[in-house]
Amino acid sequence: MPSLPKWINDTLENVMSSKFKECTVIHTETISKDLRLIRFASDLQDIYFEPAYAIGMRVNERDYRNYSPFNFNKHTGTFDVIFHLHDTDSVGSGFAGSLSKGDTTKILMPRGKRFFEPNAEIHFSIGDETSLGSSLSIKEAAEDADASFVCLHQMEDSSVLKELELYGYYAPKNDIQNIMEALNDFLKEEKQVIYNNEAVFYLTGNGNTMSVIRKFLKAKGVNAKCIRSQAYWIEGKKGL
Ligand SMILES: Cc1cc2nc3c(=O)[nH]c(=O)nc-3n(C[C@H](O)[C@H](O)[C@H](O)COP(=O)(O)OP(=O)(O)OC[C@H]3O[C@@H](n4cnc5c(N)ncnc54)[C@H](O)[C@@H]3O)c2cc1C
Repeated sequence: MPSLPKWINDTLENVMSSKFKECTVIHTETISKDLRLIRFASDLQDIYFEPAYAIGMRVNERDYRNYSPFNFNKHTGTFDVIFHLHDTDSVGSGFAGSLSKGDTTKILMPRGKRFFEPNAEIHFSIGDETSLGSSLSIKEAAEDADASFVCLHQMEDSSVLKELELYGYYAPKNDIQNIMEALNDFLKEEKQVIYNNEAVFYLTGNGNTMSVIRKFLKAKGVNAKCIRSQAYWIEGKKGL
């Protein structure tokens, strides 16, 4: 999302006012030293939501950042976001770290391209700390569709995964070999499902890691139409 002068952002919010909602922070939780869960409340009755859709948060006068809501509930009017506080000096992390119960903020409501494949038999979400929200929304939709959910997260602290009930594979940071080995095991075990194009892989998180995994999956015979990917961050780039 480009950095824009304050007056342009203010004008956009007025012109596109139906796309923005005033949201109130109703709960905050530190789930690890660099992960913070925040629950927001708003009137969500008329909002359409799909797994891995993103909200846009105005983190200062000039900048917006994308985040993935989950537990999105129109009836209770609430949704959760897990923020990766990767660097408290960055505008997004700084903003997410500063929100407290009772604060209100205008949020660009969920939008995005269709990511989730409702007819898949196995949904496999692969990513890092920034992917936890999308993994949780994909998991919820997979369970609603009576399908299987698998995940692989590359993280510093794996204990969070158990707490979030994201059971699956775990790889330490900067260990691509570990990811390949885990994927190899999965591909061997689910040979027939892969062959029938009934397993869909959702790749999010670091853009460079994602493209290595994408190439690996394709080389192992996974059909390109069964791989959905969206980079959430790339080293040296601000606010994708
Ligand atoms: C569709 C979509 C959904 C997303 N959902 C989530 C989400 O639910 N939770 C979440 O935490 N993030 C999510 N992200 C990623 C988040 O928008 C980016 O990490 C964003 O760059 C954070 O803004 P910032 O101001 O903190 O850092 P920026 O100012 O954008 O970046 C400053 C520097 O930090 C680096 N950087 C950015 N993010 C990270 C990171 N996570 N780890 C290490 N270095 C980083 C950048 O490469 C840059 O060099 C999502 C992104 C997209 C596109």
